[in-house]
Amino acid sequence: MTTYTGGCHCGKIAYAVEGEFNEAIVCNCSHCAMKGFRLAFVPREAFTLKKGEGEWSTYHFNKGAIDHNFCKTCGVESFAFGKMPDGMEIAAINLNCIDALDLSKLTVQDVDGKSV
Ligand SMILES: [Zn+2]
Repeated sequence: MTTYTGGCHCGKIAYAVEGEFNEAIVCNCSHCAMKGFRLAFVPREAFTLKKGEGEWSTYHFNKGAIDHNFCKTCGVESFAFGKMPDGMEIAAINLNCIDALDLSKLTVQDVDGKSV
């Protein structure tokens, strides 16, 4: 496992996350498309907030199953919290917000969220 660091644009929110990010999920739903996410899902325990508690607002839409946490200052959504269908708590990492990750090397996995 590699420990990556990431956060929002202004730096008020920063986190560490453990994983191997070789693949990015790109979803075509209205929300993901607008924000241009490249996503990876990790177990909630793999995500450690380093700073920024209270610095984000949370956006919900559709079934409200995912907490889309965006920075109140710069507007960047660097991570979200949610649950898998089996109830496992996960963090959705916006790989665009990870430091020192070569995005051009990621294999893109397209997800047709628009049709779900
Ligand atoms: Zn910010």
